[in-house]
Amino acid sequence: MATNPLGVHALVFAGGTTPDEVEATIAETKAAGFDLLEMSLHDAAQIDIPAARKALEAAGLGIVCSRGLAFDADVSSTDLAVVERGSALLQSSLQITHNLGGTHFTGALYSALGKYGQPLSEAGRSNVVAVLQELAKEASQHNMTLGLEVCNRYETNVINTAADALRLADDIGADNVVIHLDTYHMNIEEDDFRRPVMLVGDRLGYVHIGENHRGYLGSGHLDFNSFFHALADIDYTGPITFESFSSAVVSPTLSNDLAIWRNLWDDGPALAAHAYRYLVNMLGAVDASR
Ligand code: MN
Repeated sequence: MATNPLGVHALVFAGGTTPDEVEATIAETKAAGFDLLEMSLHDAAQIDIPAARKALEAAGLGIVCSRGLAFDADVSSTDLAVVERGSALLQSSLQITHNLGGTHFTGALYSALGKYGQPLSEAGRSNVVAVLQELAKEASQHNMTLGLEVCNRYETNVINTAADALRLADDIGADNVVIHLDTYHMNIEEDDFRRPVMLVGDRLGYVHIGENHRGYLGSGHLDFNSFFHALADIDYTGPITFESFSSAVVSPTLSNDLAIWRNLWDDGPALAAHAYRYLVNMLGAVDASR
């Protein structure tokens, strides 16, 4: 039986990270049945870290933190001041993840989340590699793992495919840097939902499940059957986290970075409960068919 920890992104429940919002998000994550909560660190300044950690532990939930960078704090830039600001953001975010009790820090750790007007430069790529080598070293001292989330062309120019991510991870050359696949992005960039999973194999360390329009699982056209069979074929036992975004729940920063202009649902807790059942049913069906 598949035993992947199942997670949900905090933006299903709340747009901000005030103590009340974090407390409600933790309660809703637990109520929907999930094992872990993923928090974006885009608005991290507000988080009451000791209180959040206590509430997560009391609920028995794991925590994963994620983020993208910004165009003025971007480690893929060729402007060293911009690279330095991006690096500082990564260092502080890694520390916050650790302080919250998390072991996984993932996302677009290598660039801003947004549309670039040109391809990645060689010098910019070298800066990504150098910064992430340092961050991986820092992370390993806390037994932490970094995820490279493969994002589509409209959100980054650094890694758009699983093959790109593997090349970047090879160049970083650290055991605690894993590949993070997301079905929403794969739908735009990959040939299908199976080959990237087989290519990444045991270097897959984190998964985002999202529909093609980022709404209700099963309401779009993504081939989740192929994807979940592929995960089973590589014996993936890592986290699987549901991501969905609607203009009904707005983060002042992340929603704009992700171009969340449409209302795909209003009731986050109902969406989350459905997603949990969907994931459990899918994993169960794949498992039973083996
Ligand atoms: Mn994602």
